[in-house]
Amino acid sequence: MEEVLYKSTRSKKEPVKASQAVLKGLSADGGLFVPDHIPALDKSLAAFSKMSYQETAYEVMKLYLTDFTEEELKTCIARAYDEKFDTAAVAPLKEAKGAYYLELFHGATIAFKDMALSILPHLMTTAARKNHVKDEIVILTATSGDTGKAALAGFAGVEGTRIIVFYPKNGVSPIQEKQMVTQKGDNTYVVGITGNFDDAQTGVKKLFGDKELEKELAEAGFRFSSANSINIGRLVPQIVYYVYAYARLLAKGELSEGEKINVVVPTGNFGNILAAFYAKNMGLPIHKLICASNDNKVLYDFFATGTYDKNREFVLTSSPSMDILISSNLERLIYRIAGNDAEKTASLMAALGSGGKYEITPGMQEALSDFYGNYATEKETAAAIKALYENCGYVIDTHTAVASAVYDKYRADTQDMTKTVIVSTASPYKFTRSVMEAMGEDGAMDDFALADALSLLSKVPVPAAVEEIRTAPVLHTKVCDKEEMKAVVKQFLAV
Ligand SMILES: *Cc1c(COP(=O)(O)O)cnc(C)c1O
Repeated sequence: MEEVLYKSTRSKKEPVKASQAVLKGLSADGGLFVPDHIPALDKSLAAFSKMSYQETAYEVMKLYLTDFTEEELKTCIARAYDEKFDTAAVAPLKEAKGAYYLELFHGATIAFKDMALSILPHLMTTAARKNHVKDEIVILTATSGDTGKAALAGFAGVEGTRIIVFYPKNGVSPIQEKQMVTQKGDNTYVVGITGNFDDAQTGVKKLFGDKELEKELAEAGFRFSSANSINIGRLVPQIVYYVYAYARLLAKGELSEGEKINVVVPTGNFGNILAAFYAKNMGLPIHKLICASNDNKVLYDFFATGTYDKNREFVLTSSPSMDILISSNLERLIYRIAGNDAEKTASLMAALGSGGKYEITPGMQEALSDFYGNYATEKETAAAIKALYENCGYVIDTHTAVASAVYDKYRADTQDMTKTVIVSTASPYKFTRSVMEAMGEDGAMDDFALADALSLLSKVPVPAAVEEIRTAPVLHTKVCDKEEMKAVVKQFLAV
């Protein structure tokens, strides 16, 4: 098998092995690691149609993580995709109103971040061992809600790691806070900041850049790392479920071998849809990659005009995980359509950093023909939830609803009737209030009562992730000022 090495999107520095890219997260020049070539699937689609999720994961991930042994990779996969998922299928498909919904929310925190964050800790500790790193890995994360809990659930109890999560004390929903402060595991730390998400994020960035702290930690046998979505250890596991979804449809006779599908992805940081793009380039028969945005439609404008411009009002929507104006993972696509030109990519990213915008060349824009971008307003998002429920009793969350609404626009625009997979990124129970309001139900109940009401309507039991926190004891009570973050970290690690 040909080795895949990882290069920076911003310089021609020496490429690194997969395990080193996982450990480093970001290249030293600020660029993202990209594979030096996209490997082709080396099994037939018919062969994939007989595989479990875990087997598919191995066959896809081995092509990218080429310096991991078969045993290492299979161990990581077995530890990640186990009973933490509430269905053996891991990522089941549901047919509704002429499309297939790929449910990526059956993990510990009922959202799609679990798909990658349940394996990343194992990839990291394996990568550390391979590179003779003896230090304990300390994950530092600032969260506005979802990523923090998914990272906590992924790293909890994983030997050789600790995780410290900072969240804005008054800036997350009651359920989100309860999810985090009830987190079990001796290696987990959760701290509320008296400030907003930006304060938490800025504080964490400062800690990452603190050379003195780095030295003190190293002397005590610790090193910081990050679990954010630009790590290739998060990107590669996301390619798996596109191959798996295709193979399941093939197995069920919904597709003939080689028949193309469209995929619709509710997009924020561009990680999920980039994984679909990689799957297509590996040989998976995908026709269009449909990029769905909410009112923060910076990507829609980019696909329409070739200009990426984040200078605009930031809109708070009912799909908060897509409220993003800088889609970090887009840089990997830019690099590719620039003909793997690091200098060009670096200059565009510099323009984004200084003026908040950049423009790609007409040639680069032509290379985007695999993509279709559109967006859904708040009204259209709510209408999509209601329509699907009334049409077939299937309840989707707000993020998935953005995708569903955009898919309707795509079909109206193009008359394309290619079979389509809509990526379902969160359980409706994660955004119960918005979902119930969209269906015209009275929202004057507490969040748990609303969940019970949703269960009656959708005939889907309340997931364990919600059930558990009803009664779970609070285990984390630390609150601090943003100036105290460093002291708190040192206290936790006893340095
Ligand atoms: C993170 C997230 C998204 C956006 O995914 P990206 O990979 O950042 O584009 C969409 N929906 C939900 C529920 C999420 O948590």
